[in-house]
This record gives sequence, structure tokens and C-alpha cells, in this order.
Amino acid sequence: MKWNNIGHEYDDVFEEYKRVLEKHNNRIVFFGAGNYGKKCLRRLHADFIIDAFVDNDKSKEGQYINEIKVISYEEYLKSDGYIVITVKNPENRKALIEQLLSDGKTESDFAEWDFFFDKIYPVLLLYMYEKVYVPVVELSLTERCTLKCKKCAHGCGYVPMNMADMGVDAAEQSIDTLFRHLDRVGNFYLIGGETLLYKNLPIVLEYAGNTYRDHMENLMVSTNGTIIPSDEILEIAKRFNVMFNVSNYTKANPNLTELRNKVIDRIVSFGCRCNQFEQDRDWMDYGFDFVDRKGNVDEMTRVFDGCDTLCREIRGSRFYYCIQARAVSENMHFNVSEDDYLDLDKLSGLEGKRIFFEYANGFSEKGYIDMCNYCNGADCKDYIIPAGEQMPR
Ligand code: SF4
Ligand code: SF4
Repeated sequence: MKWNNIGHEYDDVFEEYKRVLEKHNNRIVFFGAGNYGKKCLRRLHADFIIDAFVDNDKSKEGQYINEIKVISYEEYLKSDGYIVITVKNPENRKALIEQLLSDGKTESDFAEWDFFFDKIYPVLLLYMYEKVYVPVVELSLTERCTLKCKKCAHGCGYVPMNMADMGVDAAEQSIDTLFRHLDRVGNFYLIGGETLLYKNLPIVLEYAGNTYRDHMENLMVSTNGTIIPSDEILEIAKRFNVMFNVSNYTKANPNLTELRNKVIDRIVSFGCRCNQFEQDRDWMDYGFDFVDRKGNVDEMTRVFDGCDTLCREIRGSRFYYCIQARAVSENMHFNVSEDDYLDLDKLSGLEGKRIFFEYANGFSEKGYIDMCNYCNGADCKDYIIPAGEQMPR
């Protein structure tokens, strides 16, 4: 989207949410005081206060979760409040929606947790508390990789193994710059290439955990499951409740299974969190090696507007909307993403926060980024390919 009113693109959206909240006496309540409700509470920035939990389970009535009272559904009906349904199971969620509708509530009186966290909460946090929230930011420490996947979304299969990694100073400076402007991130990823090839990972992980863990809902390390993490890395990871994301390319590469299992066993037996992807998870082909829109601005804008990539990147003071675009542009030598970033060093004050938020949500001078010329964007779903098929070395 092109900036038309830079620094004020969300003014109307906020006014709309404000009206909705005023209708509910400016109260926000979480419906569901179970484990998922508690998890949703942990996602909130410390400044963002909700008024109560509501639960149908009478045994929870009167309890407190982090000083927030659990009230009965009947009490909620008397006291009102904008409802956020904080229940994960889709069937249970559906039942709560039916309950609310049958009691005369309308869809403008409540939101499901994912819509709330993706759309409503970031705008309220910015306009009411002057804090910026972005769901995902990644820091790529190395472009080198132990694998050479066809259609790697970062083009890492084309990178020589002697390519220089990011220096420790540059990595720490990137993290510092990001959190000078960002108050809360959903998932902060240290990635590659293969992240565990990065020899200074213990230093950078320790730095991110020590300095900014409170600003992150999750601190993640991605790995392709070909390197067993050292005890030093695991010890730091355990201390900062780091999640290892272990990708799974064993369907296309059964020979990777044994090593991948060892990697997972090591992480789990050390007591660290481990997210193991399903084997049959396919990829969508971005088409960087065959799409060419010939510089057609309308087409690039259409592709950008239809694209829902979440993966922002911090690199020095540069904040990229699309890490795939930055990485592929460099690693596959398109060299077209020279101005496709926001320079965080040029931002300051509340206006700067709003510009940062708008950029992170897809606003820019051009309304697209140059790599969209070579990308399938949302049309990726029509190009399903096996995950992690290897090119010859
Ligand atoms: S997709 Fe494959 S080549 Fe690309 S970074 Fe991951 S493991 Fe490496
Ligand atoms: S369409 Fe553009 S923004 Fe979306 S993934 Fe492709 S290059 Fe990135």
C-alpha cells in the first residue's frame, strides 16, 4: 500500500476501535481463563491492562490470574466489556460464540484471539500506549547452509560456504536498533542459512536473551536438523526459554532422518523447547527463478497487496518488510532491493513509531518492493512443491 497520509494511516482504524471500546465502557475482558487464556495474557505488553477474565467454569470464579479477577459469565453480562475469546480449540470457540450470540451480543461485541492479536491489539497499543508491536522479526546471522535446497525461499542454496557471516558487533547493533524502536515482538528468530553454522551463536543468543528477552513473546532459533547444538548453546537456550524450530525435509531426503532425530533428542533431553515440523509439510514456490513481471507497477502492487508474508528482517539499521526479498535479491544476485527497507536510524518520537508501525504493516513510498517483480506472492499456493529437495553440490 502506498503511503497517502504518512504517520496517520491508522488514525481512522483507531477511531473505529475507540468507538467500539467506548460502547463497552472501555473494558476489555478475556473469555476463557484456562491455559490458553493465560498464554494470551502473557502476550500483552506490560502496559496493556485487561479488566477481567470470564469463564463458564464456576470453580474459577473469584480466582486471580496475575492480579486479574476471574468473573462468572453472569457477572460479565451485568458489567459488560469487549470480549476477546481466548480459547484455542475451534469447537470450544464456536460454542462460546454461539453462547454470546444467543445472549444478544453481536459480532461487533467480541473478537477471537487471533484477530485481536493480529489486528486490534497492535493498533490499540500504538495509539493508547505509544508502543510498537510487530508479530515476527528475523535476524539472519549467516546465509551459509549445510543443505542446498531447490527453491530455498532465501536463495541460500546459491551461497558459497566461504561467504562471510554477520559479525557479532553487527548482530548486536541490529538487535539494539530494533528494540530502540520496537516495544514488543511476537516471535524473534535467529535464522540462516543454517543458524548452527554461525560460530558466534552463543554470544548473540546470550546477548538477545540477556538484554531484550522481556520484549519478546518467543525467542527462536531455526535449524534444518543437520547439526547437533552444543551444550553451550543449549545451556543458554534453556536459560532464556528459547524455542528451537527444527525443519523437516526427510520426505524428500530420508537420509536426513537419523541425524535429525538425534538433534531433536539432544534438544529435548537437555530440557529445551523444540518445535518439530510434520514430515509432509510442503513448500510453496515463490517462483524467484521463473517469474518476471517486466517491471509492471500495477502487477507488482497487486502481488504485494495480496501477499501476507509475516517475515520482517532487521539488518543493521535497515528494517526490511520481506526477508525473502532481501535475501534472494542478494544471494541470487538480482540486486534489486537497494531501497526496499526502512532506515530506523532516521526515525524518532511518536511520529517515528507510527511510521515504523505503518511500514511493518505494508505501507511504503512505492506501495510494493522490487523483488515482487520476480515473485508469485499469494499465487504461491498454486505452486506446491516438495519441501527441501536438494540440488547437486
Ligand atoms: S531452505 Fe534449505 S537451503 Fe535454505 S536455509 Fe533452509 S535448509 Fe538451507
Ligand atoms: S510478493 Fe513481494 S513481499 Fe511478498 S514474498 Fe514476494 S517479494 Fe516478498
